[in-house]
Formats: sequence, structure tokens, C-alpha cells
Amino acid sequence: MTDSKSDTLPKDARIVVIGGGIVGTSTAYHLGKMGYSDTILIERGKLTSGTTFHAAGLVGQLRSNANITQLLGYSVDLYKNLEKETEQATGWKMNGGLRLACNEERWTEVKRQATTAHSFGLDMQLLTPKEAQELWPMMTIDDVVGAAFLPTDGQANPSDITLSLAKGARMNGVSIFEDTEVLDVEVEDGKVVAVVTSKGRIVCDKVVNCCGQWARQEAKKVGVNVPLVSVEHQFMITEKIEGITSDLPTLRDPDRLTYYKEDVGGLVMGGYEPNGIPWATKGFPEKFHFSLLDSNWDHFEQLIELALGRVPALETAGVRELINGPESFTPDGNFILGEAPELKNYFVGAGFNAFGIAAGGGAGMALAEWVVNGEPPYDLWPVDIRRFGRAHFDTDWVRKRTLEAYGKHYTMAWPFEEHSSGRPNRRSPLYDVLEKQGACFGEKLGWERPNWFANKGQEAKDIYSFERQNWFENVGKEHLLTRSNVTVFDQSSFAKFKLVGPDAEKALSWICANDVSKKTGALIYTQMLNDRGGIECDLTVVRVAENEFYIVTGTGYATHDFDWIRKNIPEGLNAQLVDVTSGYSVLSVMGPDARKVLQKISSDDLSNENFAFGTMQTIGVAGAPVMALRVTYVGELGWELHIPTEFAINVYQALMTAGEEYDIGNAGYRAIESLRLEKGYRAWASDIGPDHTPLEAGMGWACKLKKDIDFKGRKALESQKEEGVKKSLCCFTIDDTDVILLGRETIYRNGKRVGWLTSAGFGYTVNKNIGYGYVRNDEGVNRAYLESGEYELEVGTVRHKCAIHFNALFDPKMEKVKQ
Ligand SMILES: Cc1cc2nc3c(=O)[nH]c(=O)nc-3n(C[C@H](O)[C@H](O)[C@H](O)COP(=O)(O)OP(=O)(O)OC[C@H]3O[C@@H](n4cnc5c(N)ncnc54)[C@H](O)[C@@H]3O)c2cc1C
Repeated sequence: MTDSKSDTLPKDARIVVIGGGIVGTSTAYHLGKMGYSDTILIERGKLTSGTTFHAAGLVGQLRSNANITQLLGYSVDLYKNLEKETEQATGWKMNGGLRLACNEERWTEVKRQATTAHSFGLDMQLLTPKEAQELWPMMTIDDVVGAAFLPTDGQANPSDITLSLAKGARMNGVSIFEDTEVLDVEVEDGKVVAVVTSKGRIVCDKVVNCCGQWARQEAKKVGVNVPLVSVEHQFMITEKIEGITSDLPTLRDPDRLTYYKEDVGGLVMGGYEPNGIPWATKGFPEKFHFSLLDSNWDHFEQLIELALGRVPALETAGVRELINGPESFTPDGNFILGEAPELKNYFVGAGFNAFGIAAGGGAGMALAEWVVNGEPPYDLWPVDIRRFGRAHFDTDWVRKRTLEAYGKHYTMAWPFEEHSSGRPNRRSPLYDVLEKQGACFGEKLGWERPNWFANKGQEAKDIYSFERQNWFENVGKEHLLTRSNVTVFDQSSFAKFKLVGPDAEKALSWICANDVSKKTGALIYTQMLNDRGGIECDLTVVRVAENEFYIVTGTGYATHDFDWIRKNIPEGLNAQLVDVTSGYSVLSVMGPDARKVLQKISSDDLSNENFAFGTMQTIGVAGAPVMALRVTYVGELGWELHIPTEFAINVYQALMTAGEEYDIGNAGYRAIESLRLEKGYRAWASDIGPDHTPLEAGMGWACKLKKDIDFKGRKALESQKEEGVKKSLCCFTIDDTDVILLGRETIYRNGKRVGWLTSAGFGYTVNKNIGYGYVRNDEGVNRAYLESGEYELEVGTVRHKCAIHFNALFDPKMEKVKQ
């Protein structure tokens, strides 16, 4: 049904949302609620006719990230009240959700998930198999070890919810046009100016692509990369089964790869098979509205086999239908939100991995705020479109990785688990050399990075478990060698940019919280803040010349940080940002013997007098012109050597030969993590991020508040300084080495929940479990408050006493590091 206000497409609108599935409709609903009544929603078929109409309708909430869990919790709150608001039925039922564990390791996972839920304030109760069966009498429990129950999970009718959101959108002035196809988006001066539809052209400020599985092809037309592909997804609907009642909770049985939901007295049963079938690999058929694919019984058979063991009544139940619908899935199993880094005012909300009904309410809210305010309501990094990069451009690669993620939907989510498909993709020039020396690689943004090194005769392979994993001793060795002698880390995957131009300093002065107006050769560790004072980027800036800065940031943040910097260069300034990641390999030489080793292969003077901490010099090393950055993330004397890529192997070989007399060794990223935890260095996307300010993170020292230089985020920091902080990042340790901290464990102060661990691991020098996390208190948090508490950490639902610390656990006398 086309908009009731008018049948004629308007000539202009502030915001055009493309796609009338649950996500586009929810976005339009929220834009309407925010007062943007000049929003238009355009759907080429009918509302819900894409993927939404054939969803099963389970609405779960728990994710491994607090804010994404909050987003799904928002959906539940919205769906609870929507029917009352719009007088349009939604089919919402809050019967709760059950999750089963059928072996000890799964039970450990579920207990850890329960603690995660507690950390995020979500009710998740552990049940015995018998208690679970009382809630779901038709299931067998012979193999069940335990279960978890989330009382606020539920289910909805996907089409009804969407139509209800559409009604709510219209009630707030949004116009909806069905049977109207967006054919093109017009771009001028790098930003969106209009959409061209089958019924006319609409001039607009902003476009929101909510085209579900079609989002990738739509975005491609304007040079935007949306890494998703379509995969077939099936569920079976049975006739009525005696004993199935309408108050049945939803049921997830991950060890049998299946899920269940009550449906008019029968059951919906679906699942995630390991060998998912991609769809539309050669393009989409025309007019795929309210369309399904042929039922594939042969393929579904494997799930039926598993389900019969859980619900024997299925054996005799009549089958109404086997729904086979394609849905968009992504390489990391999370959806995609935000403004495209390639195109201003072009937003995306797509790739919902079969939880678009659960996420739709919250995602629409977040996307609407993002569109209006230019930023999301809170940190949404796990779903941010900028988490992708060069590795996600090739559709074949995206499909390979996505099928792996699809198949792992219900498999154990092991700590430190790595993907295995589409590898190796991006390789440092040292890849082969390090592989021969036993490197076990992990992957980030497509880059292969050594995580740890195997001993001679040991297989370089992670063996996953919830206990200490097989690499624990190897990483300990690398850690201790870095503390005692010297090691080399291949950090070539670092993202590297150059900002060049007469106004480069002026631009960075505005974007950086720390003072960059230093002389050539200075190296500045800085954060870049949003207007709330939250940390958007955490990186190193080197002044290479009067008009040139070299910027180094984490591998995974290449797209995000580049986008942040480019967007925030004040208009009118002459400064150009270039990505030079591929141009430089990076070898970090770290440890008390680092100078002795490096000095053997360079004729430049590396003494502390000539080459101070926090500076950069271009030096000659083994025939290569090397930018040597005197900096450390592991708390030891050392240099990051940024080497033009073609010289990297020579420099590596020279370092290893020169270092022989000091027992130099290779070390990997897991050693870096352990070393930095001891030293108290923060990690972006876990300890720090857009929701945390430097004052809350204990990094006020890196902000130029005492200087008379304005910078983005300064005002927020100043007022927070005056008012005091309400949360503070603290370090905790547990002495019992049998306890394993992985992050997200709940922090209790005097028996009351005050936060959760943002990162955690083991410190081999201090021989303790280490965790970092924010302690929160609405009345304010200061040192006296923190010191006066007794602390515990909940690990897998068990509480352990822990100590709080305010200084680095390991401080190898900074004078030594700096000399
Ligand atoms: C079998 C199956 C079971 C599922 N079960 C669940 C579940 O239990 N719980 C859950 O949360 N999720 C589930 N899902 C997932 C859920 O259905 C999706 O995540 C969700 O519907 C995606 O919504 P969307 O708005 O992103 O996409 P869609 O509903 O596909 O909407 C996109 C719309 O964009 C339109 N469009 C595309 N291009 C254009 C253009 N150029 N111009 C105009 N319009 C255009 C399309 O016509 C389409 O209507 C399931 C999915 C499947 C396949």
C-alpha cells in the first residue's frame, strides 16, 4: 500500500530509506519519532516482501558485546509496547528463551555466557536438565548437562512487527512508497545528492541502504563496499503437536545445531548446518518478492536427524512446510551499520545473519541516530561498517569466509578462535620465513600475523579449550625473553597513513587530544576524541617534516581511523591523508638488549643521548633506509622499525644474526597482549573506545588540557574534569593461576555489580591473571572510593576475590626503558 498522504512521489526529501524490510521500516519509524517527518521509505515490492516475511521470528538478546546486547534489549522493549502504540498486532510473546548444553565444555561456555549476561545486566538463569524439561516438556534430556534460561527473550511475527513499525512511521509523518524501485543514487562532490527511482527523481540529503541481501549490489553502484552474501536458510513448520503449548519458550540446542519456536500449536524447527549453500552467486533473479526457494529436504535431513534426538514427537508430526529462504550473511556473523567510509551521507543497515528480527528494533534506532547526528548513540564497533577493509572487497573471498561463519553459528565459540577459510590472504614479506620458524598465525583484517611460535617438533596449531591452551608455555617463553633479552615482532600489519600539506599540523592539532606541534622527529602518542570526549582513535603520530606527519594505528582500525581523520580535517585546510600501509613493513625490536643488537647493524648513533625515547630518526640498517620509532607497547627498551617493504627480509635476517649472542628470538601477538597487560597499556575497542574518555581511562596525561590549544572533544573533557568521573578503568588480579580470565567477567564491589572486564589475560612476569575494567558509580568514582572497596570477579558464575591496582603491575623502571 502506498502512502496515504499522497500517491505522487515528492521531488525532494531530507532522508530516503531504501528497503521496506524490518530494518528499513524500523529506521524510518525512528526517524519519524525523532521528528524527521520528511523521510521517505521506498520499497520496490511490498513491505516485508524481501527476506522479512519468511523469518522464523525468534528474538534472542545475548551477544558477546555489552552494547550490542543493549541494542537487542532495546528491540524487546520496543516490541513489548508497539502494539499498544500503533494498534497493529505484532505477535510479540515474551515466553523466554532456553539454551541447552550437552557436554562439559558447552556447559562451561554457557556458564561464561551467563556471567557475561550478568555483566551486562541481562537476566540469565542456570537450570538443571530437569528444570529445563519442566519448561519444555516435549524434549528429551538424557544428554543434557545443564541449561540456561533468559526470561525476557521472546518471539514475534516478523511481518506484523514490520507493518506495525510502518504504521508508527506513518503516524509520525513518514511517507512510504511501495512498488517503487530505486535505480540509482546520484553523487556530486563526494556526497549523495539524489535518488533516481522508477517513478521519478528525489533530491535528498541522505540515503539509507536497507536493502537486505541486495544491499551489496545497490551499494556497489556508488563505489561502496558492503561485505555480505546470500545463503539459503531453512526451517520446517509442523502441524499441531499434542503437548506444544503457546507459552513455550524458544529453544536453542547448539550441540544439535538447531532451534525451535512454538507456532499455532506446532513447532518451527530450523538450524545451521556446517555446509551452508550460497545463493545467487551469479546475480539475483528479477522480482524476487514474497518468493521462496525450493525446499531442499536432502540438505535439511542432517538437521532433522539431530532434532529427532531432542524432540521425538517430530517423528510422527505432520509437516506443513519446509521454508527455504535466502538471507544475507557476513564474514564475521555480525550485521553492518553506519555511514559508508567511501561516500558521505550514504548509510547502510544490512547483513543481519538471521537475527534481523531480533536486532531490527535496536538497529533501526541506532541507524536513525547515526543518520541524524553523524554518530551512533553509543559505541557499536562490532557492527560498524568501518570494521571491514581491503580484505573484504572480493566477493568470492567474502563468500568463502561467510560460509565458514554460517557453519559456525552454533559451534563452540572458543576463546582465541581463529577463522580458517580464505587464508592466507594478506601476507607480510616475512610470512614464509616466519612460518618455517614455527609461527602459528592469527588473522586480522585479512593479515596473517604470528600469534606464537612453536618449538622444534611441535605443531604450530592452536588446540582450543576453556583451559590453558596448548600455546600457553610458548607465549610465556616469548614474554620472558622480551623482558630479559630481546625479541622481534613482525607488526607489518599496522595501518599507516601520511598526512601531508601546509595545514597538516593545524588539522592534527584540532583532531588530536595531545599536542602535535612538536619539532620534526617527535613522536606523539595521542587519542582522537568525539564531541562527548570519547576515544575514537588511539594512535601514534610522528612528525616527519614541517608539512608531513606519519600516523601508525592498529591493524583492525585501518578503515575506521582513516575515515575519522579524513572526516575531521576542518574544511578549508590544505592537508591530504594517504594510506601507506602496504609501503612499510614493521619489525619491533624489544627488550633490554634491543640497542646492542640494533647498534651492531647500524652505523647511526643509537645512544640515548642521540636517540631519545619518543623520537623518530631515519637510520641505515642492513642497506635499508629505516624509520626507527623509539616507542614501546610492551614496556621495554626498543624500536619499531618501519622498513620500505622490499627491504624487510634483509633487515630481519640482519637482526637475527646480530642478535644471536643475545639469544634473540621471535615473538608474537599473544606475547604482546600479555606484556601490555602487565604494563597497563590500554587497547582500543576493548579498554578504550567512543564511550570512554581519557579521564575515565586514566589517560588524562596524554591530553593537552593545560595548553591553550583547542581540540575536538576538549569542552567535554573540561566539564568532566570539573564534575568528576562516574567510572574509572582499574586493574584487577587474581593470584590463583587455575582461574582463567578471558574478558567480560563481572566486577563486584562490596557485593554489588559495578562493571565487567574489558580485557584480560595472564601476566607471565608477575605470574597472575590480569583484568582491566571500569568500576561505575553514579555518585562519582575517585581514588578513595576505589580503594575503600572489596572486590570480586565473577568467572563462569563463580565469584573470586581479587586485588585492585592503580599502577602498572610491572614497571621495569621507566628510566631503563627510556635510556
Ligand atoms: C529462513 C529464515 C529464518 C529466519 N529466522 C529468524 C529469526 O527467527 N529471528 C530473527 O531475528 N531473524 C530471522 N531471520 C532473519 C531475518 O528474516 C532477516 O535478518 C531480516 O528479515 C532482514 O531484514 P532486512 O530489512 O535487512 O531485509 P529484507 O527484509 O530483505 O528487506 C530489504 C528490502 O529491500 C528491498 N529492495 C532491495 N533493493 C531495492 C531497490 N533498489 N529499491 C527499492 N527496494 C529495494 C527489497 O525488496 C526488500 O524488501 C530469518 C531468515 C530466514 C531466511
